[in-house]
Amino acid sequence: MVQLIELTLENEMDLILAHRRAMAVGERLGLTIATQTTFATAVSEISRSVIEHTDQGRLVIGIQQQKQRYALRVLVTYDSQINLTNADEGFYYAQRLIPEFNLSETDGLTQVEMKIGLPRSLDLNRGRIAALQQFFANGAPINAYEEIKNKNLSLSRIKEKQEEEIRQSKLINEKRVEFISIASHEIKTPITIIKALTQLAKGAREECSDKVFKLIDKIDTQTTKLVTLVQQLMDVSRIENGSLIYSMERITLRTFLGEMVQVMQHAWPEHEVLADMEGDFEAVIDRLRMEQVFSNLLGNAAKYSAKGSQIIISCRKNAAGFAEIEVADQGIGMSPEDTRLVFDKFFRVKDIEKTHPGLGMGLYITSKIIVDHGGQIRVNSELGKGSSFVFTIPLVSQQPSVGSSINQLTS
Ligand code: ADP
Repeated sequence: MVQLIELTLENEMDLILAHRRAMAVGERLGLTIATQTTFATAVSEISRSVIEHTDQGRLVIGIQQQKQRYALRVLVTYDSQINLTNADEGFYYAQRLIPEFNLSETDGLTQVEMKIGLPRSLDLNRGRIAALQQFFANGAPINAYEEIKNKNLSLSRIKEKQEEEIRQSKLINEKRVEFISIASHEIKTPITIIKALTQLAKGAREECSDKVFKLIDKIDTQTTKLVTLVQQLMDVSRIENGSLIYSMERITLRTFLGEMVQVMQHAWPEHEVLADMEGDFEAVIDRLRMEQVFSNLLGNAAKYSAKGSQIIISCRKNAAGFAEIEVADQGIGMSPEDTRLVFDKFFRVKDIEKTHPGLGMGLYITSKIIVDHGGQIRVNSELGKGSSFVFTIPLVSQQPSVGSSINQLTS
């Protein structure tokens, strides 16, 4: 059927529209005045009966081809819970006007169908019907009510479209997260085995030549990088589906940071890692996750600065009573625009994409861990001068013992 008119049947104003639209269709088709009136009256009668019971009815008027001929067809649908029968006054009257009348039910919707065969003399063809469709699609509204109704309709269509798009993109995102999660789990098993075997091979140092040992050492380094990447991928998918779990314990920051500095100095022997710690603060943290924070921040500090340059970790209590921990480097730095995006997932500064490997996940995960600990993270950076990442975490004790020291730890 080629649809000419579609109207929601909500209230008496729609009754007027239904009648006038039905008349207009008859007129444009070139039906006699008597047929136009009969047709429009039948449409009004059905619409009135429906509107009396619900504001969720729908009226469609269109033209249907039946072999060589055409028929004017009306469909009125409404919720089947509304019990209207052929004996309803409006329905009864409409049937007397238009004998081809059908009442059916599918999927909880009742449908009233009426048909009038159109005379051959109207000379209808596809082209004319398409022109009619255009006419009603572009026609001016009959009154202010219809104008508002049309605007509401187009707004709700836009809303429906947007909701569908959001639903689709959520679905795609869920599938993506699921894929990352499954893929990273699958990759993790063989990599863990390779890592364990490489460690075993390194243990058998005396059984292999220097050349072979160097190769094994390189395999070990690259495997460690792979393990980190897979771990990051798994973390990103955990963050996305809200399953990043923490195991909190109370620690003394001075001890914890001291350990971190030692580990990091060992991991980045070509940089000088300095620590500047103020006071003996206590905090409640997930030790492994916090180690990950340091590993990311220090790893970046080392990766984006020249060998031999300093990386300084400092810790103090800020005015709000939080521990404020800073990781500062003397590296390549970032532009103000880049510092604004640096905690976004998969963000990487354009200029370094080709020179420094990475996937842009570390700072996203880091910021999530900090926020989940009740803190905040920010960055200060200047191109060519260096960057300083500062994060806060809540303290248990508000009474730190006084004292400041700078420890230089070398490997
Ligand atoms: P990755 O280092 O793996 O690319 P990150 O999320 O850790 O991912 O960092 C995102 C981006 O932020 C990096 O690609 C880099 O451009 C920039 N960046 C991070 N830390 C520093 C730093 N200390 N100095 C300069 N740029 C940095």
